[in-house]
Amino acid sequence: MIAIIYSKLYASLLSTFYRERLPAIFFKFQFRNVEYSSGRNKTFLCYVIETQGKESVTSRGYLEDEHAAAHAEIAFFNTILPKCESSLRYNVTWYVSSSPCVTCADRITETLKKNKNLRLTIMVGRLFMWEEPEMQAALKKMKSAGCKLRIMKPQDFEYVWQNFVEQEEGEEAKAFVPWEDIQENFQYYEEKLAEILH
Ligand SMILES: [Zn+2]
Repeated sequence: MIAIIYSKLYASLLSTFYRERLPAIFFKFQFRNVEYSSGRNKTFLCYVIETQGKESVTSRGYLEDEHAAAHAEIAFFNTILPKCESSLRYNVTWYVSSSPCVTCADRITETLKKNKNLRLTIMVGRLFMWEEPEMQAALKKMKSAGCKLRIMKPQDFEYVWQNFVEQEEGEEAKAFVPWEDIQENFQYYEEKLAEILH
């Protein structure tokens, strides 16, 4: 019995300290908030879950399309959400390279309607297919279901860099180096999002 408790404790300590991180090369390519995102068709989803209770607990992790065999957003609902208890409240923040597709957006809307104990904020690097009326309608539905959708600012990219990206062993953590047009691209997408959700 004690051995089981210890091994569980050990496993949870391991997952706290040695959780898997995103390779820097993926972050630099996939999260870059360029206006035309050709080749950047994977979704990386970094999540922060704050559980509200006697003691609030924060956990972090990341999901990607390829490993999950489903879009990363759906993978979150299929693998992470079932571990949440219906009696507790959860504040979840996602940092994703691009905003969800229509199917995922609809799933987000449904999930938020069903799980009133879940609050979801989605920070996105880029907007995906935002010119499509169907996409715009899906984002509006997400908003009315309570989802907060935000474009990542330069400081948000830095947060992801510090908390989710692999740092080389034995070296001091490398500082985040913003790309040249990071602020300009953020403003571009923020304006578009405001127009869609107004
Ligand atoms: Zn999707």
